[in-house]
Amino acid sequence: MRDTIRGWGLLLLVMLGLGSPAAAQSFAEGRFDPAIPTLTQTLGHAPGTRITSPDQTYAYLAALVAAAPERTRMVQYASSWEGRPLYYLILSAPENIARLDAIRADLANIAAGRPSNGAALPVTWLAYGVHGNEISSTDAALMTAYHLLAAQDDARAAKIMRETIVVIDPMQNPDGRARFVNNFLAASGIEAAADRQAAEHDEPWPSGRVNHYMFDLNRDWFTLSQPETRGKVAAIRQWNPVVVVDLHEMGGDETYFFSPAAQPFNPNLTPAQVRAYELIGRANAAAFDARGEPYFTREVYDLFYPGYGDTWNAHQGAIGSTYEQGSARGLVFERRDGTQLTYADGIRNHFTASLATAGAVAENPQAFLADFAQYRAANAGGAAGRGTYFIDLATRRWNAESLGRRLAAQGITVLRRDGPASACGRSFPLGFLAVPQAQPAARLVKSLLDRDTPLPPDFLAEQERRRSADLPHELYDVTAWSVGLMAGVEVTLCNAAASGEALAADTPIAPLTEGSGTFAVAVPWTDSGQARFVALALREGIEARVTDKAFTTAGREFPRGTVVFPAGSNTPEKMARLAELARESGAHTVALDSGWVDSGPNLGSGSFVRLTLPRVAIAWDDGISQLSAGAMRYVLERRLGLPVTPIRTQRLARADLSDYNVLLVPEGEPADVLGEGGMRTIRDFVRRGGVLVAVGDSLETFSRGDAPLLAVKREAALGRDPGAKDEAADAALAEAAEIASDAEYREAIKDQQALPDTLPGALLNVVAERDHFLSAGYDRGAVVLAAGTQIFTPLGRDDGVNVLRFAAPGNLIASGYVWDENRRQLAYKPYLMAQRQGRGLVVGFAHDPSTRAYLDGLDLVIANAVLVAPSRVR
Ligand SMILES: [Zn+2]
Repeated sequence: MRDTIRGWGLLLLVMLGLGSPAAAQSFAEGRFDPAIPTLTQTLGHAPGTRITSPDQTYAYLAALVAAAPERTRMVQYASSWEGRPLYYLILSAPENIARLDAIRADLANIAAGRPSNGAALPVTWLAYGVHGNEISSTDAALMTAYHLLAAQDDARAAKIMRETIVVIDPMQNPDGRARFVNNFLAASGIEAAADRQAAEHDEPWPSGRVNHYMFDLNRDWFTLSQPETRGKVAAIRQWNPVVVVDLHEMGGDETYFFSPAAQPFNPNLTPAQVRAYELIGRANAAAFDARGEPYFTREVYDLFYPGYGDTWNAHQGAIGSTYEQGSARGLVFERRDGTQLTYADGIRNHFTASLATAGAVAENPQAFLADFAQYRAANAGGAAGRGTYFIDLATRRWNAESLGRRLAAQGITVLRRDGPASACGRSFPLGFLAVPQAQPAARLVKSLLDRDTPLPPDFLAEQERRRSADLPHELYDVTAWSVGLMAGVEVTLCNAAASGEALAADTPIAPLTEGSGTFAVAVPWTDSGQARFVALALREGIEARVTDKAFTTAGREFPRGTVVFPAGSNTPEKMARLAELARESGAHTVALDSGWVDSGPNLGSGSFVRLTLPRVAIAWDDGISQLSAGAMRYVLERRLGLPVTPIRTQRLARADLSDYNVLLVPEGEPADVLGEGGMRTIRDFVRRGGVLVAVGDSLETFSRGDAPLLAVKREAALGRDPGAKDEAADAALAEAAEIASDAEYREAIKDQQALPDTLPGALLNVVAERDHFLSAGYDRGAVVLAAGTQIFTPLGRDDGVNVLRFAAPGNLIASGYVWDENRRQLAYKPYLMAQRQGRGLVVGFAHDPSTRAYLDGLDLVIANAVLVAPSRVR
């Protein structure tokens, strides 16, 4: 890339070791206040010459704040899993910082749909490095802060400070950045390698993109599963920004991307927002044009899925954007076109876009504020609807309660009604949570709670046209995320008004305690809280039994899967501790006074087996999807309370698994890394009584060969003939054939081995085989996420059980868009399979139930496979 700025040329000389230490300290020209420390003065390296580490980032932020206390505020908003702090830095003119509380209070007024008292200033929120290996953005954050504090000849910078509040969140994923920087430094040598194959560019597993639990934090905004996201959402709600930019990196062969974004747009975005994207896009374009810097817009990065940093904020009324810089993924990167991209190039582009965007807000501060105020007030007045979503507290109570708290944490008004109630012409025996549509965050409410969010029809028509021309579709993420369906709870929308007490996000979930007997404590197998409570109790050595048949006692029916803690097998201290755990985890317990049952098995029956804490290993590292492994470990450890031991795939060939009851193999293609030795270890583990739980693509590894562990096969696309032998392959000439039509031509060039078209992701209904313990808790079926190309043949009756299978074609789709041939081919195919092998069991999930940890309605089936199965198969 070209360099026209003089100071920049000097910096290059320094990078080449030819210059003096007086390197350029900014990416702009002009005079800079010497009272504001430069990066070099604080850290000893000039901008762009090193990848600033998390610790160095903290040090430089602290130095800036110390030098300009009257123009800054630094606030810690979260701690990462690995204990690193997350900060945001507020920048504005001294007279604004002096009245910051009044500004914030008035922004809260506006955000609540009330009139402004005139104190507010627009907030531009610039967030960097949500993916920790998208490295230039954090250094750009530091340079943007330095420029706003130190630039003395820049009228635009002065205006930004005078007319607006800028909030810089420099490092949204410090654990990921630390991982990248450590790997980079460990692999670096005497000079930076431009070769993309060099170890310094080629990260080991897991990459710095993800956080400690290997989550993509740019998909977590409405799920709030990670502490980094929870803190960030709380912080943003306190400031109500009018513009939010999430600054990323993309592949190093690309240039720069800014708004307007690609289609499809979520239908809950407003026309005014779409116009503002254009305005900000033009401001960025002017800044890039002035430097002769290439960029693109509109081609990729859509605004449909509401869990990104751009769309979630847009659903709150901000103008939320994603910016992307081609990544040097190190200090220098040779592009395929022969040019070199440097780390400094990336910083400079993000710096340019940051200032251009903040400048666009500073040019029109009142317009941005007025648009935001109008958006929030119109929603509060019912512009997006006047109905109410009622969430039933009698179905998966714990999941319903936690969903309510997740919504409240996003600034959504949730009303809670305890005890029997009726609404929408139906009764709610345990009460409900009510979410009114008329509220400032109405469009986020709609996007999350509506059963379906339709794709724009013209966009869909174009995708079908592309597919019919054998071109790939342009959907970037899932087409369904309805949080009620994913939590397995019942959501009813009707035009009734609701009353109740406002639910606070941090309200503990209250336990539900029934009965007063002292014979045993029964735990109905009904929701995630029940599974968590049982796991916590087992970890403390409390004795339990679990039934695979329903039973009735004292006129009350307990579903299959119910866990019973008998007082006769536990000390009084253990039973007291059990009650304490139930209170802490908000569990539903029933104290029984006798082992007598009216129908179904007694406690002493063979249907009740002793339930013990399983030891769980998970395949980890090369060959395994980091997202799948991380989400599965997170769900088991953090939601269900069950510890998991990761074992590297490379080690499995020589691993001793005799101490484990369960081996989880997340999504991936582990066959090559496992090799013969790894496969032998796993086969022996299962035959001796272990439970193998394989997920998604990994099923293929265990369904190959003459004696597969799981007797299923992956299907080719509908209408293909993968078994067709090309008998002519050995002949020198092909047999003559006439092609008489377009249709015949297309048939002749068809790939007979093709997999089904990739499903971007939809929520589908599955039906349960109700006699199998793995489907306990799912008598009425379940909603699962299906994505990708994997469709498996059903297990034959002699081989095993298709415990959960996709519903009939007419009932298949719960939410989202599914290509028609996928819909027809998926119907009746297995989602969850179980096959006995020797003394053990193989459990296969065709699609990952732990994706993004946001299908908590599937926690029970994960618990059935991991927590319960070892006690059933021994
Ligand atoms: Zn990114």
